Amino acid sequence: MKKTIRDINVKSKYVFVRCDFNVPLKDGVITDDKRITAALPTIRYLLDQGARVVLCSHLGRPKGKVSPEFSLKPVAEKLRGLLGQDVLFASDVIGEDAKAKHDMLKDGQAMLLENVRFHKEEEANDPEFSKKLAEFGEYYVNDAFGAAHRAHASTAGAAAYLPAVAGFLMEKEVKYLGSAINNVERPYTAIMGGAKVSDKILLIENLIKKVDAIIIGGGMAYTFIKAKGGTIGNSLLEENMIELAGELMKKAEAAGVKLLLPTDTVITSEFSNDTPNKVVNIMEIPDNMMGLDIGPETGKAFADQIKASRTVVWNGPMGVFEMSNYEAGTKAIAEAMAECDGKTIIGGGDSAAAVNQFGLADKMLWVSTGGGASLEFLEGKELPGVACLDDKQRVPFIAGNWKMFKTVAEAEAFVNEFKKIYTKDENEVGLAVPFLQLAAVKKLTEGTGIRVGAQNMHFEDSGAFTGEISAPMLKELGIDCCIIGHSERRQYFGETDETVNKKLKKAYEYGITPIVCVGESLEQRESGKAFEIVGNQIRADFDSIPADKAAGTVVAYEPIWAIGTGKTATAAQANEMCGEIRKVLAECYDEQTAEKIRIQYGGSVKPANAAEILNQPEIDGALVGGASLKPEDFVKIVKF
Ligand code: ADP
Ligand code: MG
Repeated sequence: MKKTIRDINVKSKYVFVRCDFNVPLKDGVITDDKRITAALPTIRYLLDQGARVVLCSHLGRPKGKVSPEFSLKPVAEKLRGLLGQDVLFASDVIGEDAKAKHDMLKDGQAMLLENVRFHKEEEANDPEFSKKLAEFGEYYVNDAFGAAHRAHASTAGAAAYLPAVAGFLMEKEVKYLGSAINNVERPYTAIMGGAKVSDKILLIENLIKKVDAIIIGGGMAYTFIKAKGGTIGNSLLEENMIELAGELMKKAEAAGVKLLLPTDTVITSEFSNDTPNKVVNIMEIPDNMMGLDIGPETGKAFADQIKASRTVVWNGPMGVFEMSNYEAGTKAIAEAMAECDGKTIIGGGDSAAAVNQFGLADKMLWVSTGGGASLEFLEGKELPGVACLDDKQRVPFIAGNWKMFKTVAEAEAFVNEFKKIYTKDENEVGLAVPFLQLAAVKKLTEGTGIRVGAQNMHFEDSGAFTGEISAPMLKELGIDCCIIGHSERRQYFGETDETVNKKLKKAYEYGITPIVCVGESLEQRESGKAFEIVGNQIRADFDSIPADKAAGTVVAYEPIWAIGTGKTATAAQANEMCGEIRKVLAECYDEQTAEKIRIQYGGSVKPANAAEILNQPEIDGALVGGASLKPEDFVKIVKF
């Protein structure tokens, strides 16, 4: 998981943002501004946060020379309109004008550099040039997914000189395309089409390992039909791929993957929309005729497979959809995807164009903005523009605390319901349940990735401690996390920083992840000493605990003054305190250790406020009370 712009504080900072503004131009006019609008969420967010935004992009192929026809000036104008504010335009990339404009930038203002490919050093990924680009920012942001498969100076090189994070578009591309590769929901169907087998071999080979079914259509299908012994007339054929097509079919069979090929096809005599056409059996295409689309029977069979799937990824049209007589097959697939209830993901430039042409783009879960980049991503390759970004040290962790609620039967009912609506994604999820419910919940959550924890434990292994539960007892049940020092235990059961510290040490000894709670009361808050008090709790709780253990600890900040009092802590207040806690941890240990420690917020997180709170840079999750008792509420928080 990569860091994103949510993980950095950009107020009054210069932020260098690589966008993909490679828009189609006709006579200096932008004919399609999708790429610009796709970058707006990132730009707007940075401006709203008070950043000084330096935008950079390429346009076309000026081959390292200043070429006025490839100027980004029209993009700057378009951006002004879309953002409703001025965007300074530099007439050079790293020259005097760019530097002057940079120095003029104020908080919440943006500028655009001239086409970065006016310098040949860009595509050469020249380190000196990368460094000069990096001088425009205090942070590097990559939002140019469409160029992420290129290791150029602005798409990857510059990241080496700055803290580097993903923009929102980049984040979404990686998340949605990633959901076609990791943790897929089944049945999973891949649809392959387009012109050539040779373009898609790596893609087919990568996906065949993951899918339940693979559909092959478009120009590439005829090579497979040939391999099966059909006659294909003048249809697209890659002679040197016939053998491989046969092997791929065998591989699919051996792997138990259903492989669907067209059974009928629309043929004509010329590669033209004007010659007469008809539908025939795809195994028997007459001489001098060529197949330019799948037939209606095939369209229906493919659609049925698509609609019965929980994940569908599509790369490559089913026919020559650019011609009206041969668009029906591609349209049938697009419509079936639009109807499918599962995750529908489209990669590939022409496939995306087809879906847009049919007006169905917003019916899909995700239509990738990157043609070549999405292809390489789905092939399983690491993209340089993604690899260069900093890894997220802290995966969000959302834990429910059931306190003294729920019988075993109710706990089981919760888990069964929750499992139906929860799908494992990148965030970590946990449930801290009463002791007597641990065994049942642990059993039912086996294999789901949901962590099960206790709400307290004793600091001794065993002994005369009537009514207590020890770490080895939890471990015996397979429990690997535990809330320690919850405010209610501090308030009602005499928990002190001293006992918390002992319990932490015991937890590490048994490999149990502690969720250590700290926080200040109303009185303490009003005394103006909240930071000092919480800081002292942290120092005492972590006393003589080594850095490697501390790094794996979860801290939960509970603003006790805002719980059940009608007072609320704002997201900014919550973030501020979590930032202070991290500072204290950095003093106790070092920056790196503090960067690894996850800090949850434990102040009445609900579905309605989850996104605002959890998107704060210093907040890495939540310890959820009341809202964790209902599966439908809890799942909304988990998926914030
Ligand atoms: P994508 O960009 O989605 O990855 P490709 O670039 O691989 O897709 O292929 C798209 C092209 O394939 C389209 O221009 C389309 O006209 C062409 N194509 C599809 N089916 C056929 C066919 N039967 N004969 C010739 N060309 C085809
Ligand atoms: Mg293409």
